[in-house]
Amino acid sequence: MSYLLYCGGMGSTCEVAIVGGGPAGSIVAFRLAQIGRDVVLVDKGPAHRGKCCGHCLNPRALDLLQQAGVLESIMPLASGRTERLRVLEPGSTPHLEASLSRHPRSRQSHHSGILLRRDRFDQALIELAREAGVRVMKPANARLESLQERGGLLRIRRPDHDEEVLSARLVIGADGVGSQVARHAGVRTTSGRKFGFSFDVPATGDTVEPGTVHMYLDDWGYLGLVNEEGRVHGAALASSRHPQREPMALLRHMCHRHPGLESIIGDAVSGHDELELIGTGPIPWRVTSVYGPSWALVGDAAGYVEPFTGEGMTWAIHGGMLLADAIAQSSGASWGAEAGARYARLYRTHVRSRQGTCRLVSGILSRPRLRSFACRTSRTFPMIKDRFVRKVLVS
Ligand SMILES: Cc1cc2nc3c(=O)[nH]c(=O)nc-3n(C[C@H](O)[C@H](O)[C@H](O)COP(=O)(O)OP(=O)(O)OC[C@H]3O[C@@H](n4cnc5c(N)ncnc54)[C@H](O)[C@@H]3O)c2cc1C
Repeated sequence: MSYLLYCGGMGSTCEVAIVGGGPAGSIVAFRLAQIGRDVVLVDKGPAHRGKCCGHCLNPRALDLLQQAGVLESIMPLASGRTERLRVLEPGSTPHLEASLSRHPRSRQSHHSGILLRRDRFDQALIELAREAGVRVMKPANARLESLQERGGLLRIRRPDHDEEVLSARLVIGADGVGSQVARHAGVRTTSGRKFGFSFDVPATGDTVEPGTVHMYLDDWGYLGLVNEEGRVHGAALASSRHPQREPMALLRHMCHRHPGLESIIGDAVSGHDELELIGTGPIPWRVTSVYGPSWALVGDAAGYVEPFTGEGMTWAIHGGMLLADAIAQSSGASWGAEAGARYARLYRTHVRSRQGTCRLVSGILSRPRLRSFACRTSRTFPMIKDRFVRKVLVS
């Protein structure tokens, strides 16, 4: 079936073309292939490339992966559990500890989250999608040529292949922050003034306790550290308004402000070790609509706020499942106004609302006085703190 006329280059058609093979794109692809839809997934990354991420997958993400039927293949890839959160303010203020586990009486099957390297996670999901029948093109760069009422046209570039033209009834933008599909679709997009970066350093001397997520707060942003298979993995969010915009300068600045941090990453940031940074941004990224007549957005592409609560992948997985369900429920042609509106409604209820809470938490943390007040109050009323952490970070 040809959805659009194409001209020039080798051509093929499909029902759904997905740009981006992160958790969002792969989950939609997997779910649609399972119900017999004709899906092509295009991802530009080389097979084993990491991403800017803290590698923490919370219990809610595990519930969702179980619901999607992929958890069994993912769990063996985990490199540890995330059981505790330690929040550290600058200076020698006592730190704040909280459990990252669900209430012991919770009926949900997963009580704590896991640590999962992104190269492993993303690749595993892509393989599951491929096994379910998705045509995967990776590494391949997709350029959106046109979007019309009846479908979209993509130009695909792959190493050692002629340029291909792919015509699809529905184009899904799962291409992350700054989404090309969103910009091409003509929705209003806005991006903020923050950027993220992540890195790995060998664990030497003082290190991060296994099972504990260390969050170092600062006026320019925050840095999360975890112990991952004997290495320290770090992920940070920083404001580009800060005079020291360069990531290494920011990390050095942070080592001065946090006495314990120097002994964990000091060698790496002072240049004795080589530090490879993976960056992303600008953040936040917002779009005014998540669907149109021939397109839909999911995951970060549909809007991303802050990484503090470590649930971006949960939003991506959940969004992917909601979108696949909306497509599955639509009769006849795979996409229409009704299905789009249903997806937008569910997306607002389940994903946008949680992003709002995350924005609020990050807003408090970025204001030193509010931050100190919140930390002091949490120390005085530990039960309120535990409830709050469970509600915001775990449930
Ligand atoms: C500092 C930081 C720390 C974070 N820590 C955590 C955490 O601990 N836990 C958590 O759950 N979330 C975390 N996140 C958020 C999380 O990384 C994202 O929300 C998640 O990756 C979103 O998944 P996605 O599938 O929407 O997009 P992505 O994972 O970004 O995938 C997009 C894909 O699109 C592909 N692509 C883009 N353009 C094209 C193109 N033109 N052609 C082909 N392919 C294309 C890219 O190669 C990429 O694979 C963090 C974010 C930051 C910034």
